[in-house]
Amino acid sequence: MFEKIIQKFKENNISVIPVENNEEACRKVLEIIPKKSSIGYGGSITLESIGLFDRIKSGDYEFYDKSKAVYGSEEYFKLVDLSQHVDYFLSSSNAITRDGKIVNMDRTGNRVSSIIFGPKHVIIVVGKNKIVDDVDSAIERIRNIAAPLNAKRLKLNTPCVKTGRCMDCSSPDSICCSTVIIHKQFKPNRITIILVNKDLGY
Ligand code: SF4
Repeated sequence: MFEKIIQKFKENNISVIPVENNEEACRKVLEIIPKKSSIGYGGSITLESIGLFDRIKSGDYEFYDKSKAVYGSEEYFKLVDLSQHVDYFLSSSNAITRDGKIVNMDRTGNRVSSIIFGPKHVIIVVGKNKIVDDVDSAIERIRNIAAPLNAKRLKLNTPCVKTGRCMDCSSPDSICCSTVIIHKQFKPNRITIILVNKDLGY
């Protein structure tokens, strides 16, 4: 089912592992990560909803768990800093394209910067609802689906929280500060995408 997109990502040095459901997604991630590894993550409804964090917390890992810290606090940013040099960085993505690109838009930027460089390995878990045709469709998806819902979840004061669509704001609370497109990886298979055959996150 995902043969074409898997091939496109392969050409860009990014591996894609297709799985059918949440349990299989968690199992694949935990098969990849050796015990005792250091693990960080970018905030993700997808990773929470499949139960991956609970499995990691109960496992034998060095897990930099930001959920214990107040968002924006000194402790929070210390964990963010540590997460930029881990063995495995976990994330979802706002969109992946059929021609093999990963597209994300961030507020603080820790997620996108860690995907680009720093962690030795990056594992991205993404539902099939995040597949779009191209980068333009990815930006459209982010601004009119993902960003308004994430701004609402984070209780930010942006116009899209009220309208459900991007109003191209310059709000201090804007969630759209950095747009990053991963076109290709210089190090083959540093990034692995676990592509789940169901809708996950937003
Ligand atoms: S630019 Fe502003 S209005 Fe548009 S999606 Fe981002 S936060 Fe919302």
